[in-house]
Amino acid sequence: MKIETLAVHAGHAVDPATGAVAAPIYLSTTFERDVEGTYPRGFMYTRNDNPNRQALEQGISALEGGAGAAAFASGTGATMSIFQALAPGDHVLAHVDAYYGTSRLLREIFLRWGLQADFIDMGNLDAVKKAVRPKTKLAWMETPSNPLLKIVDLSAVAEIVHDAGAVCVCDNTWAPVLQRPFDLGANFILHSTTKYFGGHCDVLGGIVVAKEGSDFFQRICSIQYEGGAVPSPFDCWLILRGMRTLPWRMRAHSENAMKVANFLVQHRKVARVHYPGLQSHPGHEIAARQMSLFGGMLSFEVKDGRDAAMSVAAKTKIFIRATSLGGVESLIEHRASIEGPGTTSAEGLLRLSIGLENADDLIEDLDQALR
Ligand SMILES: *Cc1c(COP(=O)(O)O)cnc(C)c1O
Repeated sequence: MKIETLAVHAGHAVDPATGAVAAPIYLSTTFERDVEGTYPRGFMYTRNDNPNRQALEQGISALEGGAGAAAFASGTGATMSIFQALAPGDHVLAHVDAYYGTSRLLREIFLRWGLQADFIDMGNLDAVKKAVRPKTKLAWMETPSNPLLKIVDLSAVAEIVHDAGAVCVCDNTWAPVLQRPFDLGANFILHSTTKYFGGHCDVLGGIVVAKEGSDFFQRICSIQYEGGAVPSPFDCWLILRGMRTLPWRMRAHSENAMKVANFLVQHRKVARVHYPGLQSHPGHEIAARQMSLFGGMLSFEVKDGRDAAMSVAAKTKIFIRATSLGGVESLIEHRASIEGPGTTSAEGLLRLSIGLENADDLIEDLDQALR
């Protein structure tokens, strides 16, 4: 099946009890045992498993071409489970541009628990080769990156990491459907389903998808139900509903973002546009190889620095000033001020999550805000 068809049907069956086409939401926390004390219908207690969570896990796993998945209450909760499945003394290689919450988890929680971590620019393959050690167990890749949309060559990094005997995780939050990490060497895929899967800025979630069964994935699954950071049945239902339209939304997000990028690039008040769909982007060639379209995220730098950037964000009428991404509504964000002191973001940089409005309206809005 092609991905649009999978997105509509994976994890979806007509309810055998009622014929309902839309899945019911199973709020029950507990399930009946039979007289012998067993659970013939497979469910016992919702922290262990729940029909809505099972459908979500099967659906996203099928979409990514995996062997199984474990869903969590947030993307960060899913990331936690991956690091918790390692052991003290294990070494992690992480992309220097990984989501700031992911590097904070490593630095502030897992270093104290005895993990070792190095943050390197995975765009530089020599740096990856130099950084692997005998104790390296896992590499954390992320592409396109935040907020400069830098591109990592997934198959080249995976080859180095596999030669060193470690597994590769790809945070695919920014490019679901468009980028197929299992075909490019990843062993695990992480999604913050809060973003494009949910797609409407109304649900928090995360998931780890495994390419194949392994002891490592078994540990993640036991951390899921022993640790208990599981999503609610309603959250699972919302995220799976979001998945039904995901391939078409990603196409429209990408098409709109390409138009906005082309507009910004020729604007006299804009110094730089970071979008992998532009030929001028340093990662364009690799992105064109490993992505089918270039996604809905972009950032740009205005010529006159912080005040000019803040004023653009203050003047937009359609773009909403807010963090996060992946919803139907377009968002604008001044990264340096949300990241605070120590930020490496340029003061003139604005990040856009391009939504599903008409691109002409988005362009007109940016044009008047830049004036
Ligand atoms: C948002 C995000 C996360 C964290 O997900 P939450 O659902 O907010 O916990 C992880 N990685 C990337 C790339 C993200 O954008």
